[in-house]
Parts: sequence; structure tokens; C-alpha cells
Amino acid sequence: MRLPRTTSAWRFALVLLTLGPASTSWAWGPHGHRIAARVAEARLNPGARRAVSELLLKGDTLVDISTWADQDGHDAVPGSAPWHYVNVPITATHYEDRFCSNGNCVVAKIKHFRSVLTDRRAPLRERQRALLFLVHLVEDVHQPLHVGDNHDRGGNLTQIQFLGEGTNLHRLWDSGLINEIDRNERAWVERIEPQLTRENIRAWSRGSVEDWVNESLEDAKSAYFFPAGARRPMESGRLLGKDYVTFARPILERRLAQAGVRLANELNHLFE
Ligand SMILES: [Zn+2]
Repeated sequence: MRLPRTTSAWRFALVLLTLGPASTSWAWGPHGHRIAARVAEARLNPGARRAVSELLLKGDTLVDISTWADQDGHDAVPGSAPWHYVNVPITATHYEDRFCSNGNCVVAKIKHFRSVLTDRRAPLRERQRALLFLVHLVEDVHQPLHVGDNHDRGGNLTQIQFLGEGTNLHRLWDSGLINEIDRNERAWVERIEPQLTRENIRAWSRGSVEDWVNESLEDAKSAYFFPAGARRPMESGRLLGKDYVTFARPILERRLAQAGVRLANELNHLFE
């Protein structure tokens, strides 16, 4: 599925040239995706489990494919980068369709891939690809910085120092915080488990993609306005330490848990 190596390398060089030193990332790190997919996989009903395994390549699991859209999806489907996020200004009270320019954002794409997956007349290959994207995008939309934006590409242009190392706010939420809290995927799933109460699951199972986006927007506002009550959003040059980890940990635990539960709900419902 990958383009020849030279083409990829050239494209990478071009991207670097275009963006300058602040390269943009739009992905929960592989860890975040795999953790949420592990939570989801354990919650699939038999019908969904069967349908998913029919669509996947032999030997692949939901966890394996959850990172495809970041790792191979950009080469396989040029122009798919904007599908992973929607930039909603942190000054906005809620998501509006005007933020999803030309239907080229995570909200519209989740809806699109839902309809492809349930379309029995769609070619198998198209439905397979729809599954690869849907799994990934339902997870991405739960990453607060895939939604909240302060004219800085969802934090990609806000350069900060985290525990003495340079990074940016977006990347910090994609992977830096998750890795700092625990690098072990299974330990992360155990950490999430206490959240999977009947009440939480019932509450999380209501609502639309727009509701998920609005939740991410609220969490992104707290991520920028730190500590709570700060008058101005975070700017480049900020130094962040352990207190930021303490603040972010419950948000990450909840968002990864919600992503897993909702991904399972999606598949259970779509393949009913
Ligand atoms: Zn992504």
C-alpha cells in the first residue's frame, strides 16, 4: 500500500520544507490508539466480532489496525490528513458545521465511513478501508487537541518545554503525557477499567459525534488555560512539569475510556 520509498522520502522532505522547524502531527500516538482499541475489542458483541474479523486481513486485530490511518493511510489515501481532526477555536462555545470546511474533517468523515460500512453493496475493499478509518477517527476525535485550536494548528505551533524537553502542545497530548504516565499498554487498560462503570457507560453511550467534539473542546480549553482560572491561553516558551501531568491524567483516562467504549458501540451497532 505504501508508495515507493523515494516518493515517500521526497514528500517528507517537502513537508519539512513547507512547515519549517515546527512539523505538524495529527495523531494520538500509537499508544493512545492501541489502548482505546484494546478497551473496544473487549466490548465487541459476537456479531460485530465476526463482521470485523471478516473485514480484517487474516491475523489482524482491531488493535493492530487502529494506527493504520497514521502509518499508511496518508500514503494510501493522499489528502486524508485533515480527516483526523477539526479545528474549533477555543473561544467558541461549541462545534458548528462551518468549522468543517468542505466536509473535510473528522466529524463528516466519521459519518461518511459509517455509511460505507453499512452499505452491503459497497465493494469489499471500500468497506475494509472504511473500517480502518472509522476505528482510527473515532479515537482521534477524543483527543482534545484534535479539536481545540488557538490559531496554532491544534497546539502544533505552540512550542513548549515538558520536563526539560522541547515539544509542542499537540504532541504532548498525542503521546508525551501518555508515555510519561505509563509506557505499558496493558497497565493503561487496567488504569482505565475502574471508569467502565454501568453509569459511565450508559452516559457515554448517548450523544452524537458533535457531542464528542464538544467534550474535546472543553478539555482543550482546560489544556490551554492552565492552571485553572488562567486568564490567557498557553503560549510558546511555556515550561510544564509534573503538575501538568497530574492535571492531565484524569482527562486522558476518561477520554481513552470513552473512545474505547464508543468505538465498541459503533461497531456493535453498525453490525447489528
Ligand atoms: Zn490520526
